[in-house]
Amino acid sequence: MKRRNFLKLSAATAGATFLPIHTLRAQEEKLSPDDPQAKALEYVEVSQTEGERCNNCIHAKGDLEAEWVGCNLFPGKQVKAEGWCKVWAARG
Ligand code: SF4
Repeated sequence: MKRRNFLKLSAATAGATFLPIHTLRAQEEKLSPDDPQAKALEYVEVSQTEGERCNNCIHAKGDLEAEWVGCNLFPGKQVKAEGWCKVWAARG
């Protein structure tokens, strides 16, 4: 392998290795309210139910202080922290 190619490969590998978790999460798709499963669960991006929001739901995961959070019901996608759906349940 030529030295130039080796250096390019090393740089690419190092970038992938040290990609911060929050960068990976930022790349996750944001759930659309028009998504069929979101519709089935009546997901909205702004909760209309006082005290019930995605970021205080037991199914939420990740950084709950962020604008978008992970949700166990929507793997690989993020939901709006201030959103809601009909299976909301209080965190223990
Ligand atoms: S299960 Fe909880 S965190 Fe997930 S979309 Fe519904 S209310 Fe939001």
